Amino acid sequence: MPRESRDERARRAARIAQVLAKTYPDVRTALRFANPFELLIATILSAQCTDKKVNEVTAVLFRRFGTPAKLAAADPAAVEEIIRPTGFYRQKAKSIQSASRDLVESFGGEVPRTLEELVKLRGVARKTASVVLGNAFGIPAIAVDTHMLRVNRRLGLTAHEEPDLVERDLAEILPPREWIAWTNRIIHHGRVCCVARAPRCPECPLLPLCPEGVRRT
Ligand code: SF4
Repeated sequence: MPRESRDERARRAARIAQVLAKTYPDVRTALRFANPFELLIATILSAQCTDKKVNEVTAVLFRRFGTPAKLAAADPAAVEEIIRPTGFYRQKAKSIQSASRDLVESFGGEVPRTLEELVKLRGVARKTASVVLGNAFGIPAIAVDTHMLRVNRRLGLTAHEEPDLVERDLAEILPPREWIAWTNRIIHHGRVCCVARAPRCPECPLLPLCPEGVRRT
């Protein structure tokens, strides 16, 4: 495929968005949550862990410590014990308790609604903040995880490896109204079709729009 201009890439991205919408009309984050606080904590726990496992753990965690104040004040050993199945549990326990403390001390126990404020919470990276903004508040945000990185690169929509730069490239070619759906659908597509080791290009609905797929088939 010849080198595209930004406008050409934007037009191709719009066609990809249409195909994704048709293929995965109802895709949302697979993390279960009842409010922004729960999604924030679940997203921190989801690092290096499946969403299914996180959902099992948070069902127990939120029954015992279901508010920022309760989680902040909890015995760290009790929190570690509950979240242990998600892996890296010592660091994650610190992160979710520190973030909860910051929510209580700086935001009146409410999850803030801006990226700038969210990333000020200890343990909250830009990707986590974007997941919360998009899925809990419906505020346009692009969250770049490992699937977003791999699939958008294969689609030729970015050449970067750095999540912040991938986010910037996508923000230049996608209108904000597409950001949340794009993130959720690409992540899903990366799990079910454009998998890391052996992408299923011959059966992929994006094949005609994908330079990597064309190369591979
Ligand atoms: S055609 Fe292949 S590389 Fe491209 S998005 Fe589909 S599965 Fe991934």
